[in-house]
Amino acid sequence: MPHITLTDVSKTYPPQKRRGAPVTAVDAVSLEIQRGEIFGVIGYSGAGKSTLVRLVNGLEPVTSGSIEIDGVDVTRLSPAKLRDVRQKIGMIFQRFNLLRSRTISQNVAYPLEVAGLPRAARKARVAELLEFVGLSDKADAYPEQLSGGQQQRVGIARALAAHPEILLADEATSALDPETTDEVLDLLARVNRELGVTIIVITHEMDVIARIAGRVAVMEKGRVVEQGDTYDVFTDP
Ligand code: ADP
Ligand code: ADP
Repeated sequence: MPHITLTDVSKTYPPQKRRGAPVTAVDAVSLEIQRGEIFGVIGYSGAGKSTLVRLVNGLEPVTSGSIEIDGVDVTRLSPAKLRDVRQKIGMIFQRFNLLRSRTISQNVAYPLEVAGLPRAARKARVAELLEFVGLSDKADAYPEQLSGGQQQRVGIARALAAHPEILLADEATSALDPETTDEVLDLLARVNRELGVTIIVITHEMDVIARIAGRVAVMEKGRVVEQGDTYDVFTDP
């Protein structure tokens, strides 16, 4: 069974202005993502990539179609069940989305606090996560004292806090220079290899997909226009 299956998924937003037209951001997309793979979604700005990840994460309802995670259709769950499913999904962002007023430890601990993990268990988990991303020495620093690559590594540690099975990376390296991009992609590859996390990488950069994703879907105007092994898709005549 695929880890994540999208079947004919569409998302149409209502008109932004009176007399405006509705926007179909995701248009009849079907994808199968296997457990333990790194799957890329590439396309220009406005292609529908971010909408697609928000649908997978249950942050927005689909207009039609189904999304199955481990065989469970998550588009039809009660809010309580949806919360359980979302525990399985971590997410990282282009702008890292760290809390500026909190230390690195506190940022990583945040989802564990929300989940109600006791203080001692939280502390142990945060230490383990910072060690995994190589930032143990930055535990008490603030985000602005770190480089962009380091901040994204904190974002990854935070996303992994609750032991997710899936990590959604939305333009996670788009704000970074080539060197720090490498640092973050290497870490994502380790997350995949060592922790077995299924990763969906959303980007407009072919280099990123070529470096990290075994398979890729190409999006244009809400539709998947091509998908397959990255090598085949990128070397198509
Ligand atoms: P990408 O991530 O590939 O840049 P998006 O998913 O952000 O694409 O956007 C796809 C399309 O959906 C765009 O035309 C965008 O303007 C529109 N869109 C995205 N989010 C919303 C929203 N919340 N309300 C209305 N339209 C939206
Ligand atoms: P608070 O008093 O708000 O809990 P702390 O900075 O003491 O603030 O801790 C924030 C979170 O980070 C807690 O969950 C704590 O267990 C964890 N934490 C704090 N310092 C460290 C550290 N050096 N290594 C690992 N985890 C830490």
